[in-house]
Amino acid sequence: MSTDPACIFCQIISGDSPASIFYQDDLAVAFHDIRPVAPVHILIVPRRHIPSVNNLAEADEPLIGHLFTIARHLAREQRVDQTGYRLILNTGPDSGQAVFHLHLHLIGGRRMRFPMG
Ligand code: 5GP
Ligand code: ZN
Repeated sequence: MSTDPACIFCQIISGDSPASIFYQDDLAVAFHDIRPVAPVHILIVPRRHIPSVNNLAEADEPLIGHLFTIARHLAREQRVDQTGYRLILNTGPDSGQAVFHLHLHLIGGRRMRFPMG
């Protein structure tokens, strides 16, 4: 399992940094975003340190599918599955990606505009 000791999400996954964890299993962890932009703002991350979508391999297809399965379950648990939600996966500088450990944002609980900017 590859981890980067300097990575904040690896530190959260290992328990070295605090975060409110919503869900975890062998492959992934979901926790509260520290700066939520909506009433529901959860980050769903693979345990393995993958910097971005650019670093994915074909063998990671089941892992990425798994992140969406977790998102679907959490959206239902948080009661935004019917009102709607947004899944965001930023990649690289133009997207504003700030943490280079791949993560899926699950955002909901308020009306959102599109595009975001
Ligand atoms: P990005 O812009 O890379 O897609 O999103 C990174 C997200 O990670 C941001 O929404 C930011 O608020 C969140 N974040 C950054 N540092 C921490 C942290 O230490 N703990 C938690 N829970 N979230 C963080
Ligand atoms: Zn990491």
